[in-house]
Amino acid sequence: MLTGIHVAFIGGDARQLEVIKCCIQLDATVTLIGFDNLESNFTGATKKPLTCDVLKDADALILPIVGTDDNGFVESIFCSKQLQLKQEHVACLKKHCVVYTGMAKPYLRNLLSAEQIELVELLERDDVAIYNSIPTVEGALMLAIQNTDITIHGSQSIVLGFGRTGLSMARVLHALGARVRVGARRQEHLARIYEMGMTPFHISDIRNQVTNADFVFNTIPSLVLTAEVIAQMPQTAFILDLASKPGGTDFRYAEKRGIKALLAPGLPGIVAPKTAGQILAKTLSRLIAEQTISRGNQHG
Ligand code: NAP
Repeated sequence: MLTGIHVAFIGGDARQLEVIKCCIQLDATVTLIGFDNLESNFTGATKKPLTCDVLKDADALILPIVGTDDNGFVESIFCSKQLQLKQEHVACLKKHCVVYTGMAKPYLRNLLSAEQIELVELLERDDVAIYNSIPTVEGALMLAIQNTDITIHGSQSIVLGFGRTGLSMARVLHALGARVRVGARRQEHLARIYEMGMTPFHISDIRNQVTNADFVFNTIPSLVLTAEVIAQMPQTAFILDLASKPGGTDFRYAEKRGIKALLAPGLPGIVAPKTAGQILAKTLSRLIAEQTISRGNQHG
């Protein structure tokens, strides 16, 4: 339970509603900043403006998935006013207050470190990234089906990268009956791909591997699908780049060659905002409870 803990939210999208719901259920004191247009009124939460007076009592401050932009602006689909998190706001947080976000830009990191406020980036955590791979893969399948005229079953599918998203992507394609090849660079990954019944290849061999590809799913956040690699692909291939912006594809060259290539960021929030919100809620509520216990131990 989060009884006696004050959780303040600044902005967000549909995912944040699941987190708010969870905090209220766990009996936290919940303050909502930047939710002026939110229609479903959460009983047990209070809407407030972004002021020091409101922030000074918070034990946890929860920002949206992309915490702030490069100038401190926080996005909220529930508010038409601009929300800018400034040094003066952070300065009035209690020293034990922890700020949670999906991923932080340097602006937010610098702001918080100047005031020695702890920052937790949820998307960097293995557990969140693995849970998030579930809606990501479902969204990727949806886009693959929508953008091609062949089945995934029986297709020549290539997955690049064998991390938290790549492994889930490869497993699901394999289960659907695709002929799956996975490009990775670590020997233990190549061994695991083989053990799972798929075909591994070293990423340095990518040019030879793509010559008969129907689908290429990239999860490597570096330029791996270069013009030289794309030049080897059949024109009917479909590239779905799941890696964070700018992705790992030379999109300019793909377009020039007439190969369909899409960058598809933020799929969990698009295809399954409720599940994506529940993933965040589960982890956040546990982290806030742990934060409170460890603070209690320090004081006791
Ligand atoms: P991850 O667990 O860190 O996996 C990344 C993979 O890329 C690892 O296998 C890593 O290999 C490999 N890699 C990195 N740099 C490489 C390079 N230069 N050459 C060859 N391989 C390289 O990350 P993740 O959680 O799977 O996420 C992957 C990407 O997808 C990230 O950019 C993430 O932001 C994005 N993402 C997007 C969505 C979406 O909705 N589109 C959802 C979730 C995540 P090593 O293990 O050898 O380093």
